[in-house]
Amino acid sequence: MIVGIALLSITSALLRWLTVAGSVTAFIMGVIIYKAFGWQGLILLGLFFITSTLLTKWKKDKKQDPDAIHTEDKKGRTAGQVLANGGAALLAAVGYLTIADPVWIIVFAATFATATADTWASEIGVLSKKRPFHIKEWRRVDPGLSGAISSLGTVAAALGATFIACCFYILYDSSIALGLCIAFSGFLGNMADTFFGAWFEQKYVCSICKRETESHVHCGVKAVKVFGNRFFTNNVVNFLSTIIGGLIAGGLSLWIKSW
Ligand SMILES: [Zn+2]
Repeated sequence: MIVGIALLSITSALLRWLTVAGSVTAFIMGVIIYKAFGWQGLILLGLFFITSTLLTKWKKDKKQDPDAIHTEDKKGRTAGQVLANGGAALLAAVGYLTIADPVWIIVFAATFATATADTWASEIGVLSKKRPFHIKEWRRVDPGLSGAISSLGTVAAALGATFIACCFYILYDSSIALGLCIAFSGFLGNMADTFFGAWFEQKYVCSICKRETESHVHCGVKAVKVFGNRFFTNNVVNFLSTIIGGLIAGGLSLWIKSW
């Protein structure tokens, strides 16, 4: 199995789905997740990774803003992006290897439900014909900016979280209650992502095209920072929201068990 994980990581690097460092990080993550949660855990990781990579590539020409931080760059996802989406799952795996409590499996699945909801919402929501609504500034903004929501993106988030929850339900032969718990937590985790994105994430304005962006470089020049905390990059926001999704699911599942 370890050889299989290595082959998949190398293939991802060769296909430029991941950078070299991203691929090494994904390999280590895959091995630890396999040790903790078996092949089912690897399938959840794989489902998140494959669907988000395919969605990123889907209708790429229509995702207007070439510098938007949500769209993957040409060299593939970096180690930072891998840890942003899978770091919380990795912590759940380490948690399980330390104290073998089944609650970690729920936490683990919910971190991927959150990451999947967020990626589907970003990659599908950016195609919304209507400009998304910024929840803090209370106005419509350009597609692709964090902290903004569209009905299309919200439906995509719910579908993404439900997709992982269904796969979890099948893979672990789990109960409907726990499946719902994971779908719900993933959706809430994605809402936390939007909230952090709106209130804390850095925003720049490009001095050439005047477009708002999360990238510090736009149209080939340095963009002007207008808002946000340096600490809250998109990766940090993703990492925190997957932790929140995981914690909500862990708490809910303990509550369900106490019935
Ligand atoms: Zn620009």
